[in-house]
Amino acid sequence: MKIIMLGAPGAGKGTQAKQIAAKYEIPHISTGDIFRANIKNGTELGKKAKEYMDQGMLVPDELTCDLVMDRIAQDDCERGFVLDGFPRTLPQAEALDKMLAEENKKIDMVVNLETPRDELIERTINRRNCSNKNCNAIYNLVLHPPKVENICDKCGSPLYQRDDAKLEVAQNRLEVYDRETAPLVKYYEGTGVLYTTILSQRANRMREEVTKDVVEQLKN
Ligand code: ADP
Ligand code: ZN
Repeated sequence: MKIIMLGAPGAGKGTQAKQIAAKYEIPHISTGDIFRANIKNGTELGKKAKEYMDQGMLVPDELTCDLVMDRIAQDDCERGFVLDGFPRTLPQAEALDKMLAEENKKIDMVVNLETPRDELIERTINRRNCSNKNCNAIYNLVLHPPKVENICDKCGSPLYQRDDAKLEVAQNRLEVYDRETAPLVKYYEGTGVLYTTILSQRANRMREEVTKDVVEQLKN
């Protein structure tokens, strides 16, 4: 099962991607997580990526594509994968399709998570991440707060607010999304594998329900 999660920053792609990857026992590949791990380990790639990420800008296509192509060529991706945060531009989508086509493979489903704009901003700035790199749990102070303030339910490590969860960066990332990533919805519409679903607290469409819908859709 080869799945792509599309959606604006703050749409809850990461959480959905994790659930679906666990359900199908396939790797969850988050380009954001890979870049952050590289930054933490002080790699050359990390140094380059950080300059862009700190400003809410996209890392250049070439760097990003090389990284993802290497990752999905690994053995554990044989049965499929869930891509979270990739592709984010048309050239990235085209590079992915080209690589898969060379091996007679294709994407099975593109899940497009739609969320009202104001909810996106609110969700993003209330996001907190577990500081334990082996845990990576994600919380939201409003939607699903930790049981103990600022402490991860799963591993007890302190939570923190990622730089890109700050208001200005969040707004900039939404503009980048509209310009660079939103056109991918049309692109995948054309391939017939797009599944759009709404994730909205106000509309009472919470994440558990959305996961259920996606899994149901994948069965067909
Ligand atoms: P989100 O909070 O939306 O899950 P991510 O963790 O996916 O954000 O990404 C964080 C940052 O990493 C992005 O703002 C961007 O700078 C960089 N990044 C992640 N994926 C890509 C990509 N496919 N292309 C370019 N830059 C990327
Ligand atoms: Zn944790």
